Amino acid sequence: MSTEAILVIDSRDVKTPELIPGMKNRHGREAMIFLLTTHWAEIQYDLMLKAFKYRIGTSKTVEQKLEATLDICRELYNAALQERRDAYKQCGVSVNYQAQATQLPDIKTVRPDVATVHSQVLQDVLKRLQRAFENFFRRVREGDNPGYPRFKGKNRYDSFTYPQGGWKLDGDKLTLSKIGSMRLKLSRPVEGDINRVTIKREAGRWYAIFTCEVEANPASTGGCAIALDVNLENLLTTSDGEVVDNPRWYRKAEEFLAWCQRWISRKKKGSKRRKRAVLRLQKAHAKVKNQRRDFQHKLSRRLVNENDVIFFETLQIKNMVKSHCLAKSISDVAWGSFLFMVIYKAAEAGRLAIGISPHWTTQECSRCHALVMKGLSQRWHSCPGCGLQLPRDHNSARNILARGIELWLASGQGVTARGGPLLGAPAKREPALGCESVVHGLLPAHSFRGWDSRGIIEPYPFYPTP
Ligand SMILES: [Zn+2]
Repeated sequence: MSTEAILVIDSRDVKTPELIPGMKNRHGREAMIFLLTTHWAEIQYDLMLKAFKYRIGTSKTVEQKLEATLDICRELYNAALQERRDAYKQCGVSVNYQAQATQLPDIKTVRPDVATVHSQVLQDVLKRLQRAFENFFRRVREGDNPGYPRFKGKNRYDSFTYPQGGWKLDGDKLTLSKIGSMRLKLSRPVEGDINRVTIKREAGRWYAIFTCEVEANPASTGGCAIALDVNLENLLTTSDGEVVDNPRWYRKAEEFLAWCQRWISRKKKGSKRRKRAVLRLQKAHAKVKNQRRDFQHKLSRRLVNENDVIFFETLQIKNMVKSHCLAKSISDVAWGSFLFMVIYKAAEAGRLAIGISPHWTTQECSRCHALVMKGLSQRWHSCPGCGLQLPRDHNSARNILARGIELWLASGQGVTARGGPLLGAPAKREPALGCESVVHGLLPAHSFRGWDSRGIIEPYPFYPTP
């Protein structure tokens, strides 16, 4: 069985295709989201990669071996980086992955400790460096101002990968070549075929991450579409009017993180106490990260389970983070990673996640399409023309949904590529809004001109006027 998902992005701001990590198209290459101006782009997934992460229950000896492996990998990384730098500085020669990989056997004869690490793990280290340089040059070409690849300090290099083989998983027992066996805390079964295994150290704990090829299982919910509007007050507002609050762990935890930082600065460098303090900070960061991930996973799972099509704004997160006053709140919300979860879960389930250009979605009235100008602080949409009263974000979510469906129907692509279920099937859920009636195929594509032409959407009696 193969997955088929269409990913459509319409954005006027972005020109370069963006790589979605972990997704491959039918040619085995990593999939791209094409950010086009007016066109629709299709991406089909025959399979997708999914990561499963488990804690390793380590013994002292295994832990020492993992540490030692990590150290050797880090040393190799730094040495390879040094070689590239020197070769270029002194002779103007650029050294690539191949040239460095052929040196590995010789290095092993000189350094027997390097030979204690699996050969593919070492090759993977060099590939990581290659990627770092590729990204660096790409960004230079794009006119960015990236930092030159850096030497990795002891706390900055914390994972190594078995890219093809060298591991064996038997129940909860993982055996790694040249390291030994260890027990995993298998919180859930590994799905699909294991592609690669990465061992990672995070805040003093060790994890095994299995990257697996997973076949998708497309399923229809009976044709529900929804649009998401992101904002800073809440994480998102849906076109149904549901408001999902943004739990601001980071800000809450911030005070504690700052305290940890001060605590570290009071300790002598290289001391045992400092080490302990650093670990404490790392753990605090890890906790925030885990809470966020957990929340986002659950939310994205629910949205994908309940809907066949999800429309969202293509926000320029990078640019927004650059404008610093919004930066902290936006990274706090971590919209990008949330969106990624929605996209890959949708792809896996054979659903659609479609990006829509956000222009004027806030200002436009979702019923009469008049422009009602409002500043950032104005949270309520009150239309003088038709009298529509809505929270600002709900209004823009409805606009995103309207635009999405209009574009989508007009393109005709979505309908043919996905077949009947979306347009024909009856809804399992009672349609709460007119938008869903449109999705349910009550309307031929060419006649759709917006909400009011159907006269479906009525003013909301539920909201108290502010
Ligand atoms: Zn209006």
